[in-house]
Amino acid sequence: MTPDVIVVGAGPGGSIAAETMAEAGLNVLLIDKLPMDSRQEKPCGGGIPNQVLIDFDIKPENVVEKRIKGSIIIASDGNQYTLEAKGKDYGWNMRRAVFDKFLTDRAVSAGANLLDRTRVVDLIIKNGKVSGVVCKNDKGVLEYEAPLTIAADGVGSQTVIKAGLRNKWNVERDIGQCAVAFVEGYNPSNDDENEYYNRFYLSNQIAPNAYAWIFPLNDHVANIGLGLHRTKGLNPMHYLLKFIEWEGIADKFSKPKVIWKRNHPVPLCGIKGKTVGDGIIAIGDSVGFVSPMLGEGIIYAMWTGKLAGKTAIEARESNDYSKDNFKKYKRAYKKMRFPNIFSTHRALRDLLMSDVDYNVSQIIKLAKTDEDAQAIIENALTGESRDISPELMTRALLLIEKALKKDK
Ligand SMILES: Cc1cc2nc3c(=O)[nH]c(=O)nc-3n(C[C@H](O)[C@H](O)[C@H](O)COP(=O)(O)OP(=O)(O)OC[C@H]3O[C@@H](n4cnc5c(N)ncnc54)[C@H](O)[C@@H]3O)c2cc1C
Repeated sequence: MTPDVIVVGAGPGGSIAAETMAEAGLNVLLIDKLPMDSRQEKPCGGGIPNQVLIDFDIKPENVVEKRIKGSIIIASDGNQYTLEAKGKDYGWNMRRAVFDKFLTDRAVSAGANLLDRTRVVDLIIKNGKVSGVVCKNDKGVLEYEAPLTIAADGVGSQTVIKAGLRNKWNVERDIGQCAVAFVEGYNPSNDDENEYYNRFYLSNQIAPNAYAWIFPLNDHVANIGLGLHRTKGLNPMHYLLKFIEWEGIADKFSKPKVIWKRNHPVPLCGIKGKTVGDGIIAIGDSVGFVSPMLGEGIIYAMWTGKLAGKTAIEARESNDYSKDNFKKYKRAYKKMRFPNIFSTHRALRDLLMSDVDYNVSQIIKLAKTDEDAQAIIENALTGESRDISPELMTRALLLIEKALKKDK
């Protein structure tokens, strides 16, 4: 039976898209190159705002490892600022092997057909419309046709490039180079703050033009990582291993032991290129739905998956898979203000990174004294920017900009 939709990639975005469409009775083919029964760990901080669990009706006990009470921002001079959600859950730390498997299993339970260990290597294009995919697995080369393909194949997406939706990333400008590790020996004295707070270190020496993090997990393990941005030729793993051995965090470990580590890129430019074409919709990392400041993309991948799924359901009813009809997908994510959030986060990041050591320290001072600035910083860092109005975002940005200039 010909599928109604092919979803390329069973990450958080692809799995939510597949679930949304399968629940509505569409015949969905969900393809991933990796084995889905023994899901591999994906290089990620694994931090999600509580909003993810609310929006997607997920019970924390099914997917997350640690309930987080807040975040601590640490400037290079040691100045700190603590963010906490007032009267509600703040966020959660999880392992991607568990989280992604849960979402894919849910899509399969809803009726999606999963084809794993299968790599999509090309698109079938007929009369200028994307009409299916060519894949390879241990059985050889396979072709599947469908009126709609959803590109959910992450930062390394070839689907969007072959469909002509975007050009290749400009590696230096568009991409953050990250390194991440699971480290044993964390928090030997069971200190409450180390156990339940995520820590962000903003310092040019530790992570040039980006930041380093420590996200606690269970059993004295922490997810530790960092990103580098606009730093051609520097190796993020070199910086990460130096950070893990740094005397400034030595008190948080008995003896740090790296048990797993990886490098991985993340888009930091905001949405790049087009997100729809005839017969194709692109979601998540494949076209840059990631906060340019935080590198946080799970919630955006899941939401764009859901919105693309809803668009597909309507397209099937009207039998219209044209890019014009898919404009409603663009309207839907604009209504959720994702482009607006990304441009504010990009502006805030560029402002901070123009002199990170000085600026972060100043911003921390400002956040302690000014309510508007506090609101934008807190909302940006807790990943709940949808709650604040564009007017407040603009006002707070101007305020921060003015404060940084005045203090210099
Ligand atoms: C080091 C690091 C830390 C991060 N930390 C956080 C964090 O703490 N919180 C947060 O919200 N975000 C974080 N992110 C971002 C987050 O990982 C991504 O935004 C998110 O995974 C995007 O989801 P996705 O579904 O779009 O793509 P992905 O999760 O990348 O999924 C893509 C899927 O497509 C499959 N695939 C790829 N190519 C093919 C192909 N040719 N054929 C078939 N299948 C294919 C892959 O196997 C994969 O399963 C981090 C990123 C990095 C690199």
